[in-house]
Amino acid sequence: MFCSQCGSQIEDGFRFCQQCGAPLQTTGNVMQRPGNPVAPVSPKAPRSGKPQDPYQPQIVQLKLQLKQLKLDLKQITTRMSSTRARYNETSAFAPRGLLREGYKIFEDINLLGPQQQKQQLQQQIMQLEQELLNLQEQQAQWKAQQ
Ligand SMILES: [Zn+2]
Repeated sequence: MFCSQCGSQIEDGFRFCQQCGAPLQTTGNVMQRPGNPVAPVSPKAPRSGKPQDPYQPQIVQLKLQLKQLKLDLKQITTRMSSTRARYNETSAFAPRGLLREGYKIFEDINLLGPQQQKQQLQQQIMQLEQELLNLQEQQAQWKAQQ
């Protein structure tokens, strides 16, 4: 066995450690080397009185997602309006007719991607907002039952 005080090995039969003189216990944590104590296991795990709200983490997550999507949407809108502004600037110097028509097509191509992205984002935002509303409703019901 090992001394619980100094950790030195002790032959069976001794009641005191030969190294430090600590009394040896035949039961308990004699085998435990010092500096390596067993974490006390409390019979009751600490629990807060309130049951955890299962909806709150999801709601926080959704709100974060919505915030990010709205930022994306804002960026796309800004980019689109700068594309339009650039078109208006350049087309002002372009002669009438074909060339100006070309600029128009160019603008449409440039705006096609962002336009679709914008619509997708707006749809996503609407869906998430609906989801958020549902969750908040469920949360309110859950809270009423507590
Ligand atoms: Zn000892």
